[in-house]
Parts: sequence; C-alpha cells; structure tokens
Amino acid sequence: MVTVENKYEQLTGLDQKHFLHPTTSIKQQQATGPDFIFTEGKGVRLYDMKGRSAIDGLSSLWNVNIGHGREEIAQTAYEQMKTLGYSSCFATYSNEPAIRLAAKLAEIAPGDLSATFFTSGGSESNDTAYKLARHYWILKGQPERKKIISRSKSYHGVAMGATSATGLKPFRDFTNSNAPDFCYVDHFSREALRQTIEKEGPETVAAFIAEPVQGAGGLHIAPEGFFAEIRSICDEYGILFITDEVITGFGRTGTYFGMDHYGVAPDMMCFAKGVTSGYAQLGGVMISEKMHKDFIQLSEGTLLHGYTYSGHPMACAVALKNLEILERENLIQNARVMGEELLKGFQRIQSERGIVGNVRALGLMGAVEIVKNKETNERFAEPLAPKIVGEAARRGLICRSVVFDGQDTLVFAPPLIINQEEINELISILNDAIEAVETGIP
Ligand code: PLP
Repeated sequence: MVTVENKYEQLTGLDQKHFLHPTTSIKQQQATGPDFIFTEGKGVRLYDMKGRSAIDGLSSLWNVNIGHGREEIAQTAYEQMKTLGYSSCFATYSNEPAIRLAAKLAEIAPGDLSATFFTSGGSESNDTAYKLARHYWILKGQPERKKIISRSKSYHGVAMGATSATGLKPFRDFTNSNAPDFCYVDHFSREALRQTIEKEGPETVAAFIAEPVQGAGGLHIAPEGFFAEIRSICDEYGILFITDEVITGFGRTGTYFGMDHYGVAPDMMCFAKGVTSGYAQLGGVMISEKMHKDFIQLSEGTLLHGYTYSGHPMACAVALKNLEILERENLIQNARVMGEELLKGFQRIQSERGIVGNVRALGLMGAVEIVKNKETNERFAEPLAPKIVGEAARRGLICRSVVFDGQDTLVFAPPLIINQEEINELISILNDAIEAVETGIP
C-alpha cells in the first residue's frame, strides 16, 4: 500500500535527484529535501501532502493577491484554453483577451501610461523595459543614451538585464559577467542620483529605474516626496523614469499601483505577479502615450523584440478575471485597512519582544527588523531572521527573511483577502516564533 509517508519519501528522492530549485541552497535541498510539498491552496492558506497547513504570509512570492483556490479563475482559464489555447501576437496577429487587457491596464495605470508590451514575468519585463528605452533613444536620434541607473537594495529579476540592474550585489556576483551600461546609486539619495548622472554624462543615460517600495531587498519604503524629486531630476536631464511595480502593482500597497501613493507618473512601468495573482505567467511593460506616439511616428521596420508568449490568450483572460475580482471585492481597500492592522500587530510585537527593532508597512507589504539592541540598532553577528522563519513555518506561518547587506529582517505580504482574524493569527504565530528564538539566545 502506498502511504503518504512512502509517497513523500519517493517524491523527496526524485526532487533531490532531478529538480534544480530556483533561488534555493542546493546543499540544503540535498540535506533535507523539500520542507513542504504543497498540494492545495485555499484563501490565505497553503496545505501540504502531510496534511499541514500554513498562512501564506508572503502570498507565495508576493503574487497571490486574490488568494488561493479561486474556482472562477480556473473556469476562465478552462474556457479560454478550450476555445483558443494559444495564438501568436507577432506580426499583426492579435487576440481578444490581450487587446482587452491592454485597454484595461491603460484605464488603471498611473499618468498617461497607455500601451502595453506583454511578457511572461517580471524579469522579462525588466529586460524589455531597458531594451525599449534604449531603442527609443535610437529612434530619437540620441543613440549614446544607453546607461540604466538603478538603486542599492533593488531587485529586478534574474534575466541578464534584470540581474545587471539589481542593486543586491550577490545576485550580480552569481556569474562572472554581467551586461554593460548599468550603474547604481544609494536607494534614497537624490543627491547620489544627480551626481551619478553628472559623472556618467547626462547624454549617456537612458533611464532610471526604481521599485516604489523595495521588496526583496528588505522592504524599504521611500519617504514622502521622494519620487516627486526623482521625477523632476529625470525631467531635468531628459532621462526616462521607469517604475518596477512587479510586487507593488495591483493593490499590494493599498492603492492600485505603488506609485499612486506618491502621485508620480513614470514614463514606463514594469508589472507581473499580481496581474494574474500567480494563476498564470504574465508580465508586461507599459509606456506613456507620449512615448507611444514617438514610437508610432519614428519607428521603421519591425520592433525586433517579442516573446512566444507575449499576449498569451489564457494568461490575459486570467488577468482580466483577476482584476475583476480585485475590484468587485474591494481588495485594494482591504489591503489598506488590513495593512494598518498588520502594522499595529507588528508594533505590539515590537513592544513585547526585546529583539524587534524597526517595524513598517505600506498596505499589505510589511517588515520586522531583528536587532540585538533596540536603542543602538546593533545587529546580531549571526542574523536571527532565518531561524524565526523556520520557527514560524513549524507553527503554520510562511514568511521570508532578508539578510543582504547586513540586514536581519522578516518580510510579509499576505494575500489581499486577509481578514482581521487571520491577521491576528499571523501576528500571534509570529510573536511565538520570535519568542522561541529570543529565549534560545545564550
Ligand atoms: N522586479 C521585482 C520588483 C521583483 O520583486 C521581481 C521578483 O520578485 C522581479 C522583478 C522578477 O520577476 P520574475 O521572478 O517574475 O521574473
């Protein structure tokens, strides 16, 4: 008889032998096998083969905005696959879900972002944005504008351009060669941006890219007014401003897009993740109406950039349904209200626990910093956040630690459907997990 234990053991063996996991310690995978083999998702929770359940405190990879197990989405995908599973958008071919999604995005996106190039995810979106920006400057007769400036602690993905733009150095050091023409500035320094533009030569800079709230790099929220100043520096030097809304888009921070908090419109915007809540692989880059008009006027021949799955009909149909649910269930407002409750919960933990320093949240994107000394902000020599993640997982909460650049931070981004009771549960488990680690400190 095949028992759950047998099956788990068999799958673990196959996983270790055949599955090279993304962003995973290979040694750890070989030592322990998968921590969870998930079988089901429902609402804010994930369930695994052994019958364990956990609150998905990071919406998996910051993406399952409408929560797990939505039958409506499954039905939409099924209907679309049944009628038109795939057709190309190359040349002048098109399909209705892609057209309608592009039009819908133009309605909801900041400023005059009005035309969308579709990709299959965030990394492709970033590479596309850099290529479109550079191509734009060629069309505008300024081909020397090719440098892309990004920020410290930024994460833009793992394609060649996206890795090269990523401010977190370990990602760039993963290989011994990166793409040329990328430079980096301190994440919150307007002065550093200005100095770098001057040093590099403004006529060589194509674009500046920023996440409205930095996610994977430790959840850093820009001060009020920051992006208005960035926008005006970009305008002063004629540089394109690209926002990477891969995490912050589609309600995550309590507004449709992260940049809505700052009242600033970019020239280009990368998106992915929450556009389908992870039910299908889709991303894209939006460009402003002005850029689009310039492209229409100046472009000769073929736009030589396109993915087989650009404008995938099933992925676009799923995205449309996902946005319908987001709006129908007022999930963006819920993210705002529950985000405040999440922050209050963090603050309670901060007052109870001796090792919790700064806590912060914008909508349902939040962070808890672990410190040795609350007054001085001194860190432990060995970060404790990874241990807390382990303790939390054992108690039924999945979250992530960030230890880049000497950080010791826990990050959270639960599904936007989360309610008060579930927030309380998340906070209670987190408190217990931190306490368990705190009491174990020698
Ligand atoms: N940009 C940001 C801000 C991200 O957080 C991510 C992924 O976490 C990416 C880009 C890359 O997206 P993907 O993993 O879909 O390629």
